[in-house]
Amino acid sequence: MMKMLVERYLHTIPHVFEEVRNRYGSDLILLHDSHHRLSPIQAARFGKLLEPYDLFWMEDTTPAEENQQYLRVVRQHTTTPIAIGEIINSWTDYITLIEEQLIDYVRSAVTHTGGLTHMRKLMAFAELFGIKSGFHGPTDISPVGMAANLHLDLAIPNFGIQEYMRHSEETLAVFPSSYTFKDGMLHPGNKPGLGVDFDEKLAARYPYQAAPLPVDRLADGTLHEW
Ligand SMILES: [Mg+2]
Repeated sequence: MMKMLVERYLHTIPHVFEEVRNRYGSDLILLHDSHHRLSPIQAARFGKLLEPYDLFWMEDTTPAEENQQYLRVVRQHTTTPIAIGEIINSWTDYITLIEEQLIDYVRSAVTHTGGLTHMRKLMAFAELFGIKSGFHGPTDISPVGMAANLHLDLAIPNFGIQEYMRHSEETLAVFPSSYTFKDGMLHPGNKPGLGVDFDEKLAARYPYQAAPLPVDRLADGTLHEW
């Protein structure tokens, strides 16, 4: 019988990191996201396999919305740092993760997890257990959300790293923003508040268009969650 897709993944990805380390050396910071597709024991094995390649973190290994206790198994077996939280919406879902020190980085975004006040409390809770921030920041977080992440990053002592993807020119024109990104660093700029404006007239030129996620299929053609 052919190996299942996850088995192939577990076999292949460590070789990818081996190749990258061999080619680019030990200084390059490497992270990896499994999009919640592994079972606890698979994630535990994966973390062990990745240890020689010194990842900054492995992200979203197990399904975060199902059972935070999954990460106990992962944590027991590997020293690869663990990040999770981009689909977690409340600090209450972090209680086990933080109190049992099952994670190293909180991956929430200010826009997804209760706003600035809620997230500030969550990060104060995390700070007591030596856990840092790694806030979610792809382009589906608007410039307003990105600026909110950035300002919270600057306000907490347990800042770790900030995910950042540059928005399109159209998005940046609709949301004139004072924050800037250069040489791997974000700067908030000098405008008051979050420093992000919104041009309603310009926004009206871009009516809503649905953009569904891709349909994923396994090698044998069966549907698989994205
Ligand atoms: Mg992720």
